[in-house]
Amino acid sequence: MNETSPIWEDKIYLGQWQTAEGPQAAVIGPATGEVLAKVQTATPVDVGRAALIANSAQQHWATLPFDQKAEILRRAAALLKERAEEINRWNIRECGSTAAKAEWELQVTYEQAQMAAALPMQPNGQIFPSSMPGRRNYWKRVPIGTVGVIAPWNFPILLAMRSVFPALAMGNCVILKPAPMSAICGGALMAEVLEAAGLPEGVFHVLPGGPEVGEALVQHSDVGMISFTGSTAVGEKIGETCGRMLKKCALELGGNNAMVILDDADLDAAASSAAWGAFLHQGQICMQAGRHLVHRSVADKYMNKLAERATRLVTGDPWKQQVHLGPLINETQARRVEEIVNRSVAMGANVVAGGKRDGNFFEATVLSGVTPEMPAFGEEIFGPVAPITLFDSDEEAIALVNASPYGLAAAIHSASTERAQRFAERIRVGMVHINDQTVNNEFQVPFGGMGRSGTSGRFGGPANLDEFTTTQWVSVMEQGIQYPF
Ligand code: NAD
Repeated sequence: MNETSPIWEDKIYLGQWQTAEGPQAAVIGPATGEVLAKVQTATPVDVGRAALIANSAQQHWATLPFDQKAEILRRAAALLKERAEEINRWNIRECGSTAAKAEWELQVTYEQAQMAAALPMQPNGQIFPSSMPGRRNYWKRVPIGTVGVIAPWNFPILLAMRSVFPALAMGNCVILKPAPMSAICGGALMAEVLEAAGLPEGVFHVLPGGPEVGEALVQHSDVGMISFTGSTAVGEKIGETCGRMLKKCALELGGNNAMVILDDADLDAAASSAAWGAFLHQGQICMQAGRHLVHRSVADKYMNKLAERATRLVTGDPWKQQVHLGPLINETQARRVEEIVNRSVAMGANVVAGGKRDGNFFEATVLSGVTPEMPAFGEEIFGPVAPITLFDSDEEAIALVNASPYGLAAAIHSASTERAQRFAERIRVGMVHINDQTVNNEFQVPFGGMGRSGTSGRFGGPANLDEFTTTQWVSVMEQGIQYPF
């Protein structure tokens, strides 16, 4: 794709670009199967190298005046905009994103950088009274040290940098392991941006590689925290290791998010929200509207409106044409979506729109007659499928929402916002959107799930102050104390 060989073709970023022993990996475009480039990968040995460098760079970084840290993060934000054309091109070609999705992702990553730049100037502690005369107690946040960030491929830039930027802002060094399917836009390009922004050498590292590199990062005793975004299965393993090692761990995991349509809902607005929530980025979003729970009295109308929207959506290569849906990330994922649809149909579900796979492409699909025993209800599909399940009362709908062990996001449509808020109080999910869809992210609002969607850790706004720090209590006696012995 580039005329001159990019530096990341044969080097990894260990606080500066360095040669590494690992193999080069092919970067494959999911729309065409074409090899777009090569990228140098890291090995578990490089995790040790990165941790050593990061640990020796961290004190200097942490003690740099707050306005200098903020300035570097603001420069990084500006560089994201300056390099938008290149970053978006990679997001489209490497990850199968549509142009609109790539642009949105870059914009919200820019907002994350701006927000992180404001963190170092926040008040960072409190003063407490003491029962001992002559003693002052203060309590302050301190950096963790080195933070390991492990990111997925679906929103590779945002989901890496929403941890990287605030972790840096709070005085930590960071080692980022992007997913192998998004090593360029979610890894190498971010190293270039932070290097050009003037981040001191050794503070940020990018290790492209698979599970073995991720495991080595989690297991390294000098990495004080893991911030992981990805599947629940991998999150459980990481949580186990971190628990054993008594390591701080933030887990943002899978979802199976309910879109609830009550009997008094505005069905045009609900269907519009539902199409966006279910089909955006081919449904490969943790917050995707994956279960459409609809009151029986309005179900036919809702289904027809949603199916009509689904049928109008164009699927194709987003690099070559303007489309609503690009490819799924690879054939394994596309086959998995097909298999979930086919198994559900064999159990009695009906395909109302779409339903077909062509290579890595899958049509926007609406399924009716879906019951809780079917895989389309119980599993995180991670594809463009909207399964519809009926209910007869609010009680039944609440039970259906809570039937999922996941608890990331939900949406509720009703003419009565009061009724919808009462409903929201009774469901076990981390984020609820009334008269909207499930896919929402605002950088200034804490984000996160419950249950199998993650630990109680939160990203965004004030939550970042606590997420990427630990605390220290310092007490000061004006004069030494004479104890009884
Ligand atoms: P994944 O769990 O397969 O991989 C995520 C990252 O973990 C990748 O970088 C991968 O290389 C790495 N990894 C894999 N095995 C590992 C191991 N044993 N130890 C350490 N690291 C390991 O997930 P994915 O397929 O990349 O992403 C899709 C999943 O992510 C979906 O389940 C989706 O819901 C979830 N997700 C959650 C959020 C959220 O904010 N809650 C956001 C986006 C995606």
